[in-house]
Amino acid sequence: MITIFRASILHFPKTTNQPDADFEYFADGMLVVEDAKIKAIGPSSELTRQYEHIPCLRHDYSGKLLIPGLIDSHLHFPQTEMIACYGEKLLDWLENYTFPTERKFAEPEYASKVADIFLDQLLRNGTTTGLVYSTVHKSAADSLFSAAQQKNMCLVAGKVCMDRNCPDWLQDTAEKAQRESAELIEQWHEKDRLYYALTPRFAPTSTEKQLALIGELAEQYPSTFIQTHLSEDTKEIDWVKSLFPSAKNYLDVYEQHHLVRKRAVFGHCLHLENEEWQLLKEREASIAFCPTSNLFLGSGLFDYERSKAEGVSVGLATDVGAGTSFSLLKTMGEAYKVCQLQNQKLSALSGLYLMTQGAATALDLQDKIGNLNPGTDADFVVLEPKFDALTELRLSNSTDPKDILFALSLLGDDRAINSTWVAGELAYKQKEAINAMA
Ligand SMILES: [Zn+2]
Repeated sequence: MITIFRASILHFPKTTNQPDADFEYFADGMLVVEDAKIKAIGPSSELTRQYEHIPCLRHDYSGKLLIPGLIDSHLHFPQTEMIACYGEKLLDWLENYTFPTERKFAEPEYASKVADIFLDQLLRNGTTTGLVYSTVHKSAADSLFSAAQQKNMCLVAGKVCMDRNCPDWLQDTAEKAQRESAELIEQWHEKDRLYYALTPRFAPTSTEKQLALIGELAEQYPSTFIQTHLSEDTKEIDWVKSLFPSAKNYLDVYEQHHLVRKRAVFGHCLHLENEEWQLLKEREASIAFCPTSNLFLGSGLFDYERSKAEGVSVGLATDVGAGTSFSLLKTMGEAYKVCQLQNQKLSALSGLYLMTQGAATALDLQDKIGNLNPGTDADFVVLEPKFDALTELRLSNSTDPKDILFALSLLGDDRAINSTWVAGELAYKQKEAINAMA
């Protein structure tokens, strides 16, 4: 069955350094979906004629903005319940909140329950793909993958590996981490729309031996992802240097263990040295930019201009639970402010790019998600620009998608999400939001 969506449609058909120039916009557009994939995109005047006599289901979202499904490049599913816990700096935050919370996920039933809540939060915020940390427990990763599989979501996730500098009850060993990660890869990687990410939490919680064994897996399974944290907090950086005295810098710890490559996504990267920027670029590794988390933990400001100048791929990320919202729209507004504090500009289109095509490129999944090109998976979001009296007033005379997006990044959140579509199917709708014509 073919389904046709009429709306204002905005996306980036290709990877670019110039989102302000390389976007595609149809004020009165149509998106044609068949068998979970996008079949056609274009002006409504053209496609209406083409599909006039073909039986299909039609949804009219005129006056609303249809964009690709949003991609969250870094967040922690077990931390859903500890979002907005009173502030600490990174290392105390881990000790006081994170580790005690993650302990609960030893219980598979608990993990399944939170996995459902977590994925529902993503969908109600228009997020269709996430690069997600689980806990150290293999069964918790299983729970998350099963829940995502049931929703047919494109999800990248992994079991956290840590064998030191954390409580005994949350530790694995180098060998156990390797064995369990390998089992999870065999079970979940490239199954349906799921991918596995090797997940050492960060350098301080892994021994050299554990990093080496994870590095072996990274080479044995080159299509897997790698996710970890890098250069978030100055105290953390000093600690890494004392734990790994032979490393030239923080990133070199990962480099020495073959963990810097394409499909490796490093969270934060706030205080990078020149050589670290260079290596990220050389290895085609990527960065997750987590503005709400960086502000919340007082970690620092991400140098967005530098990432562009260096040509390193960046995806926007919530980093829940240190991040303070599941909404990538809101996160984009915070990214704008982080740039302002450094006299940098983040245009509305650049912000959208960082959570769609730019993030897909950072994950090396741009052939499948992040844009609305024919042949890609039909993951998309319908935004409701005027969702309350204030946005009604603010946007009453606005037809410019850049202005609408910018306003929504500062005034909006899940209330601005009319509906979220995963592989062509309705995955979330706001009450009374959907309007099927036939
Ligand atoms: Zn994180």
